[in-house]
Amino acid sequence: MSIINLHDLYFKPFIKKEEIQQIVKQLAYQVKQDLPKGEIPIFVGILNGCFLFAADFIREFQGNCEVSFVKLASYSGTKSTENVKELVGLNEDLTDRTVIILEDIIDTGATLQEIYNIFRDKNVKQLKVASLFFKPNVFKKELPIDYIGKSIEDKFIIGYGLDYNGLGRNYPEIFQLTTAPKMKNIVLFGPPGAGKGTQAEFLKDMYNLVHISTGDVFRFNIKNATELGLLAKKYMDEGDLVPDEVTINMLKAEVEKNANANGFIFDGFPRTESQAEALDAFLADKGEQINGMVALEVPEDLLVERLLERGKTSGRADDTDEGKIRNRFNEYNTKTAILKDYFAEQNKYYGINGVGSIAEITKRIAEVFNKL
Ligand code: AMP
Repeated sequence: MSIINLHDLYFKPFIKKEEIQQIVKQLAYQVKQDLPKGEIPIFVGILNGCFLFAADFIREFQGNCEVSFVKLASYSGTKSTENVKELVGLNEDLTDRTVIILEDIIDTGATLQEIYNIFRDKNVKQLKVASLFFKPNVFKKELPIDYIGKSIEDKFIIGYGLDYNGLGRNYPEIFQLTTAPKMKNIVLFGPPGAGKGTQAEFLKDMYNLVHISTGDVFRFNIKNATELGLLAKKYMDEGDLVPDEVTINMLKAEVEKNANANGFIFDGFPRTESQAEALDAFLADKGEQINGMVALEVPEDLLVERLLERGKTSGRADDTDEGKIRNRFNEYNTKTAILKDYFAEQNKYYGINGVGSIAEITKRIAEVFNKL
């Protein structure tokens, strides 16, 4: 999950859909437990926000029930200063019925107050309120709320039925308001030998970004014989990928070391789908995002030639043996190449012809960087 932009505002992931499903299930279970045996309740959803919650809640509810929806429409009352609310849509006779209100969120309690007022003269047997979310810090009323899914702090949220000026209702998870992203974060992508490291050295200065090459960090650790280096070496020497968990933790530490950066050029990371997901979640938590993946596209035969040439001077064990080079391509093709689709789906993939002089290619990349 990454941050999302609706109108002029940005929102970061807050509550995952699995957690929401769990909360809804628990609410439906509690409501059922408290009902007298054989009682058929009528659930009344307060539109618009409750529609996803109500749909899921009703599916989880074990037993017979009736369902209705109402809308509270504001209209100008007799006193010009006061906004009186009117209920639209309730046609059922509720006399002697157990009515359970389904609300998506209760904050100040103003709407809840209206609901209690409106249902007062409906001669119901019982009126109960179930709210998926509740903001205890802003609730100003002395009104009962019988079931609360989750109490949250007073931050504006959207998703799972909740909107910001009409947008955001269709997201299956909940997002929380955050500040606009400040960083420019770019994934420099391409197979081994495509020229990512060379280009990053120019681009980091041109755009004042921090360059993180996971391969370089591993090699630094190997040179200094750290525990991480010893672990990574056996994979790297064979041209295999280092396990995700190790790589992800290392990457996060590198980002944290540069918390005040204008942004990052990620070179050699992510290399697997789970690394990409971890990076998205990690940045989203900071209210930041990947602006784009810039991919250097070079035919494989040319790459093998380049790597063997580099191996003559780089001292890299994985650059001298054609078998190990082929294994690195195999790792790339089976685990890494799919990330093109991952970023393309988010409209963040920018392919660039990686054949040409170094300066020509820098120019091609810069044209994309300028847009991001
Ligand atoms: P590079 O310098 O990017 O070509 O990386 C050299 C080697 O470091 C790779 O062949 C892997 O063994 C390891 N490595 C670098 N980055 C990653 C990563 N994101 N995930 C797993 N292994 C990596």
